[in-house]
Amino acid sequence: MKRIYMDHAATTSTDVEVVEAMKPYFTQKYGNPNSIHSFGQEAREAVEEAREKIARLIGANPSEIVFTAGGTEADNYAIKGIAWANQKKGNHIITSQIEHHAVLHSCQFLEKHGFKVTYLKVDKYGLIDPEDVKKAITGQTILVTIMHANNEIGTIEPIKEIGKIVKEAGIYFHTDSVQTTGHIPIEVNDLGVDMLSISGHKLYGPKGVGALYLRKGTKIVNLIDGGAQEKNRRAGTENVTGMVGLGKAVELAEKRLAGGEVDKVVKLRDKLITGIMDQIENVRLNGHSTRRLPGNANICFEFIEGESMLLNLDMKGVAASSGSACTSGSLEPSHVLLAIGLPPEIAHGSLRLTLGKDNTEEDIDYVLDILPKIIEKLRALSPFTGSWDGLKKNSVEEK
Ligand code: PLP
Repeated sequence: MKRIYMDHAATTSTDVEVVEAMKPYFTQKYGNPNSIHSFGQEAREAVEEAREKIARLIGANPSEIVFTAGGTEADNYAIKGIAWANQKKGNHIITSQIEHHAVLHSCQFLEKHGFKVTYLKVDKYGLIDPEDVKKAITGQTILVTIMHANNEIGTIEPIKEIGKIVKEAGIYFHTDSVQTTGHIPIEVNDLGVDMLSISGHKLYGPKGVGALYLRKGTKIVNLIDGGAQEKNRRAGTENVTGMVGLGKAVELAEKRLAGGEVDKVVKLRDKLITGIMDQIENVRLNGHSTRRLPGNANICFEFIEGESMLLNLDMKGVAASSGSACTSGSLEPSHVLLAIGLPPEIAHGSLRLTLGKDNTEEDIDYVLDILPKIIEKLRALSPFTGSWDGLKKNSVEEK
C-alpha cells in the first residue's frame, strides 16, 4: 500500500544529506570539541560552522546562537532564564492562550514561584491583536513571548508589529519559531525579537537538537549548570553530531527557500483545502485563510471524531493528526481550537494535514479521493445529530 506522510508539523524525516553530514562525527571525527588536540579541534570547527549557518539563516551573529536539546528547551531557557534574571525589575510576563505547552507550562511553573502571567486571547482565526499586547504591558512586565506561527492551526502571528510595541516599552521579546524556521523567511532584526526558538526535527534535521537565538546583551540566567560550554550559557559536552545535522538542515532549508519551495507547498496546500471544501459538506477551515504556514491544512468535520478519521486514513496509508487526543494524550480537545472559539464537540472533529517538501500533487489527489468516502462512512455511523449553529456550510471566513 502507498504510504503518505502528512504530519510534518509533528516531525519531519531527517534529510539523507543531513544524515551523511552527521556520519563522520560518530566514528571518525568523534573528538570532544573542548579538547585541544586535532580530534577536538575538528569537532569544534564543525560545531562553529553549524552555528554560523543557523545565524546566517535568521540574520543573527553566530555568537548569538546557543545550541539546545530542541524547541522545548529553547522555550524553557528563554522564559525561565529571563524571569529569574530580571525579577528585580518586575514579575509580569505576557503570552497567549494558543502557545505550545513548552511555553504555557513554563509560564505556569513561574506562576507557582510568584510571577504573574497574562494569557492573551486570540480572535477566531487564532490571531493576536498587537493592541492587546500594548494594553497588557504594565510597569512590572519583563517579557513578552508570542509564537511566530501556531503548530495546530498554522496561523502566522503579527510578530513584527508586536515587536515594535515591545521594543518601545523596553521589554524582552521572545518568539517560538519552531514551526517557521526553515519554512518561511526569518530575519530577527526585522521581526524585532530578542530571542527565537528553533527545533531541528521540524526542518528535516535530527530530533533532540535545537537552538535559541539570544540577542547580544540579553540578561538571562542559565538553565543548566556545569562546564563552560556554549560560552558559559549551556553546560554539557556538545551534541556534535546533532549540531552538525542541524547546521546541514538549515543550509538545505536556506537553498529551498531561495528556490521557491514555499510557493510549491502553498500551491499543494491550497489544492488540498479547496478540494476538501468543495467535496465535503459541513466543514470549516481552522486558522487564517492567508496568514498561515505553507504546509498547514486544519479542518473540522461536523458530526465525527478526529480519532476515527485518523485511524481510517492510516488504514489507507495516510499519516495525519487531530486536535483531540493526539496533542495531549488526553481526550480533551486542543486548547488552541477552544481558544479560537470552537465548541468542544466541533473541536473533536478536527483533522490536521501538514505537507512537506516531498509531498506531491499525486499525494493530494489520493487524499482528495479517499477522504470524502471516509467522512461519508463515518457520518453514516455517527451518533451525533443536529448542527452547530455557528458553522455555516463550508466556511472559510475571509478577513
Ligand atoms: N514549539 C512548537 C510550536 C512546536 O510545534 C514544538 C513541537 O511540536 C515545540 C515547541 C517543541 O519542540 P521540540 O519537539 O524540539 O522540543
